[in-house]
Amino acid sequence: MIVSKFGGSSVADADQIKKVRAILEGDERRRIAIVSAPGKRNKDDDKITDLLYKCNSLVQKGLTCRPVFNEISKRFIQIAQKLKIDDVRLSERLDDIRCMIDAGRGADYAASRGEYLSALIISEYLGWEFLDAEEAIVINQDSTVNDSTYRRLADKLDPEKRYVIPGFYGETEQGVIKTFTRGGSDITGSIVARAVGAELYENWTDVSGIYRADPRVVADAAVNTELSYKEVRELSDVGATVFHEEAIAPIYGIGIPIVVKNTNRPEDPGTRIVPESNDFGATAVSSVKGFSRIRIRKLMLFKKYGVRHALLTMLHVFGIRPSYSLFGIDSIVWFFDSKMASDSVCQAMCERLKKEFELDSIEVDHGHAIVGVVGDGMSSSDAYLESVIALKESGIDTTFVNYGASDTSVLFGVKEEQADDAVRAIYGRLF
Ligand code: ASP
Repeated sequence: MIVSKFGGSSVADADQIKKVRAILEGDERRRIAIVSAPGKRNKDDDKITDLLYKCNSLVQKGLTCRPVFNEISKRFIQIAQKLKIDDVRLSERLDDIRCMIDAGRGADYAASRGEYLSALIISEYLGWEFLDAEEAIVINQDSTVNDSTYRRLADKLDPEKRYVIPGFYGETEQGVIKTFTRGGSDITGSIVARAVGAELYENWTDVSGIYRADPRVVADAAVNTELSYKEVRELSDVGATVFHEEAIAPIYGIGIPIVVKNTNRPEDPGTRIVPESNDFGATAVSSVKGFSRIRIRKLMLFKKYGVRHALLTMLHVFGIRPSYSLFGIDSIVWFFDSKMASDSVCQAMCERLKKEFELDSIEVDHGHAIVGVVGDGMSSSDAYLESVIALKESGIDTTFVNYGASDTSVLFGVKEEQADDAVRAIYGRLF
C-alpha cells in the first residue's frame, strides 16, 4: 500500500484537486491520502491556515473573526462548487466553525479546520472514506506523537477501503484538538505510513524533489535523486522547507522509503528518501537566517563549569534557547533564533548576567545566518575543505564553524546579508 500526502499547493483550488484525483487513480496501491489545507494559488494569495490563525488573533483581541472568515468560506465554497460537491453540508459546517472560533476555542482548533474541511471535500469528491485525525492521532503536550496512535489507526483503517485523512492535527490524551508545528501534515503522513506498514510514503508538493540548493538562490540548482533520512533531517534544520524535519521520526527505525514528487509534473522522478544512502559526500547546501549571537567573556570561565551551566539556565529564564554553542577558555558564544527575544529582553538579560556572574563583558548582536553543507560521510569527504575555500575566495568571513558534531553536516555562521552569496559560492565549488 502507498500513503500519499498532498501539500497546500496541491489542494489550493479545484483544478489542483483534479490533478490529485488523477494521481491517486493512477495506481491501485494508493489507498490513503493525507491532505493539507488549501495553500496559495499564486504568490500574493493567502494560505487558509494563515487566515485561520488570523481569525483566532482577532478573537483574542476581542474582535470578531467574521470578515476574515468570510474569505475562508468563499474559498471552500468555490472549491466545492467547482468540484460539484453538495453533500457535505458545507455552509452549515462553516457557520459552526466560525461560531466556535468566535467563542474562543483557540489557535489549534482554528488552524486545524483548514485540513478538516479540505479532507472532507476531497473525500467526497473521490468517493473515499473520511477519517477525522481527531479520532485516531494522539499528540503529546510537547507536540510529539503518542504511541497509542499507531494502534488506534490500525484499528480504524479497514484495508479493503480507501481513506482521506486531514493532516496537521490530532487530539491530546484529554481530547482537546492539537496541531503539530507548521507544515505538520508531513508528520501525519509518516505516522499513517507507519501504522499501515506502507511500502512507500509519497509526499506530493509543487517542486520536483529536494534541490541541492534553494532554486531561488541558485537558479540552475539540480534535484537530488536520493537522500538519506539523516540528510533530510539536517537539511530541513538549515532552512530547506520541502519536508518537515520531524516527519522522519515516526518511520526512522521502520525504514519506509519516501518520495517527494511534484503534483504539477507527476512524471518527474522526484527525490527518494531512504534510511541509508549509498552516496557519500555533499548532497546539498542551504541556509537559515534570523540568528542573534551572545558573546560572553570572563577570565577562567572554562574552569567554572557551574557558572557555564548557571548562565545557560539564566538564558532559559529569559526565553532564550541557544541552537549553537562555542566554548573558549575565557569565553562563550551562543547563537539563538532572534525571534526568541526582543531588544529590551536582550538588554535586561545582559544587565542581569553581567552583574550576577561578574562577567568581564557580554554583548548581543543580530543579523547572523547559518549555512549548512549536508551529506553523509562528511568527515571522509573533501566537502568541508572545499566549502572553506569557496567562502574564502568569495571574501565571506565565518563567525563559527561546526564540524564533527554530526557526520552528515558542516555548519558555518556568516553575516545574514552574505548568506545567499555563501550558498552560491559553495554550490559552485561542490556541484
Ligand atoms: N496547513 C498547515 C500549514 O500551513 C500544515 C501543512 O500544510 O502541513 O502549516
